[in-house]
Amino acid sequence: MRSDHPCPPDSFGEKRGSARFHPVSRNDWSDASLSEWNDWRWQLKNRVSSLEDLEKRMTLTPSEREGVQVSVRKLSLGITPHFFSLIDKNDPHCPIRRQVIPTADESVVDPAEMTDPVGEDSNSPVPGLVHRYPDRVLLLITDRCAAYCRYCTRSRLVSGASGYDFHPKLELALAYLREHREVRDVLLSGGDPLLLSDEKLDSILASLRAIPHLEFLRIGSRIPIFLPQRITPDLCAALRKHHPLWMSVHANHPREITAEAREGLARLADAGIPLGNQSVLLAGVNDRVEVMKELAHKLLLCRVRPYYLYQCDLIQGSRHLRAPVGKGLEIIEGLRGFTTGYGVPQFVVDAPGGGGKTPINPDYVIYKDDERIVFRNYQGKVFEYPETVSSDQKRPLSPFPDYEIGVKD
Ligand code: SF4
Repeated sequence: MRSDHPCPPDSFGEKRGSARFHPVSRNDWSDASLSEWNDWRWQLKNRVSSLEDLEKRMTLTPSEREGVQVSVRKLSLGITPHFFSLIDKNDPHCPIRRQVIPTADESVVDPAEMTDPVGEDSNSPVPGLVHRYPDRVLLLITDRCAAYCRYCTRSRLVSGASGYDFHPKLELALAYLREHREVRDVLLSGGDPLLLSDEKLDSILASLRAIPHLEFLRIGSRIPIFLPQRITPDLCAALRKHHPLWMSVHANHPREITAEAREGLARLADAGIPLGNQSVLLAGVNDRVEVMKELAHKLLLCRVRPYYLYQCDLIQGSRHLRAPVGKGLEIIEGLRGFTTGYGVPQFVVDAPGGGGKTPINPDYVIYKDDERIVFRNYQGKVFEYPETVSSDQKRPLSPFPDYEIGVKD
């Protein structure tokens, strides 16, 4: 093969852009062997999950200390050693720290906040199954995650700390799906489905695949970020049997895309699983254009398409983490046209109470009537496009003097 061939034989494993991906430091667990560190079960067993453990490893602020004490009744504290190692212990505003270490602010409940902000429980015909949209359902198959995000929409349910009665009935859910022929798409979520064993996941996916009208299966998981060691060749072999299978991962900040996460994502992509990322817009974490641009670039290098940027749901005790909707619009406006189109996620608000995901876009249309649309481009230059009409209706456009076409307004 010529050395300048456009497709070198190892192109899937090629380390393009690898200077941007760093392995995590194992300093806090220097007594662990490399094989222990790389074992996902060891990572789970050694999660940081108590005040005592946390304080052994870092100095907490008084607010964090109080937050951890309250978390036992609300949403557990749990951080994998891998993810914990990304925290800057000297920075109380560290974007990784803000996502997983509770603070006293979680006890402040805004009147607009809810325990079930997107109305999942009221759209649940069978325990563990949410049927809100016409042709697709959400199937919650576990209430556990590798680590717990302080802004989690399902805080009521995950971690088991709040006493929520979560007893998914898989057989009932399968019976519902067999009966509802309009459903063609099932999203497995939780909790994190990839916490289940390979065998269990394989069996759930096989049961779904046995239902002929289900065309499309998806998994929502934060494990490639929290616990990339879980993405083993065996797991990928189990998943690839059930194509078409897509996956939405969840990364919020570029620092989360470590060398290890990149390797896990490469395994999933090599298994033929199309990957998308869902970020949640969080104050002090990713509410700046440069941060989201760097995240988008790293995701694209990992063959992950930035898919959604979510406005943070109105979950109780999340006000300190919610950025204004205007910030989301600013970010989309700062990405669109300024970087690869594949790198621009759709900004959505999940309508409070159960209205569904609703796209919210910066306004590019300045004027529209039957004859024309006037709009601005990403640089603010104004353009006019004549509306398409049948040839017998064609007539010259009436003058429209209010905008200078091609000029920044
Ligand atoms: S991983 Fe997902 S389900 Fe689990 S705590 Fe985070 S946001 Fe919630």
